[in-house]
Amino acid sequence: MKLLIMGPPGAGKGTQAEVLVKELGLTHISTGDMFRAAIKEGTEMGKKAKEYMDKGALVPDEVVVGMVKERLSKPDCADSFLLDGFPRTLDQAKALDATLKEMGIQLNGVINIAVPREKLMARLTGRRVCKGCGASYHVIFNQPQVEGRCNGCAGELYQRSDDNEEAVGNRLDVYEAQTQPLINYYIRQGLLLNINGDQEINKVLEEILARLKK
Ligand code: ADP
Ligand code: AMP
Repeated sequence: MKLLIMGPPGAGKGTQAEVLVKELGLTHISTGDMFRAAIKEGTEMGKKAKEYMDKGALVPDEVVVGMVKERLSKPDCADSFLLDGFPRTLDQAKALDATLKEMGIQLNGVINIAVPREKLMARLTGRRVCKGCGASYHVIFNQPQVEGRCNGCAGELYQRSDDNEEAVGNRLDVYEAQTQPLINYYIRQGLLLNINGDQEINKVLEEILARLKK
């Protein structure tokens, strides 16, 4: 299956993607994770991306599109993938359509996790992420079994540098201006699966799996 997962920052894309890729055997492609890996490695692209990310701005389209194109050409994407956090602009969506067409690939669906804006600040400022595997936790809504440690790999949990109030405010504004219009773009293509993300994590998963089965 070839899927996209979209929704505002903090909607639960990463949380759901972690389970979906295991359940459905998909290759997880998160552009945010790819940029954080590049920052960790100290590459030129990572250094450039960090300036945008820390402010809560989008990394320029040409950088993201090039990175995703290269990733999609790898053998582990040939049968199935879950793209998470991409596309985020209309130009990215058009570039993705053109790339998939070139590759002879058809998307099966676009999962859109909907959560009201007023819930997102608390989700993001309370988020903690595993340094080892990138799994997402929350200080209130999704606590790890051992404080400060990942349930899966026992990695150390940290707070992302862009999960502060100022950057989150910008990210939510950018989402509304640039990414939200993609909902209509994918409705027009008959691909959108709209999911209520304002319910417990396992209920969101159940709803996604039920919609994918249809
Ligand atoms: P995204 O990848 O969409 O930015 P995450 O999956 O990292 O979002 O989730 C953002 C934060 O919200 C995390 O701290 C996560 O534990 C928490 N979270 C995810 N889904 C839910 C939910 N359904 N209810 C409450 N909190 C959630
Ligand atoms: P995420 O991990 O999805 O919350 O992404 C973190 C940050 O990485 C975003 O706030 C952007 O700065 C950058 N980023 C991730 N994906 C994209 C994208 N598709 N287009 C532009 N910037 C992106």
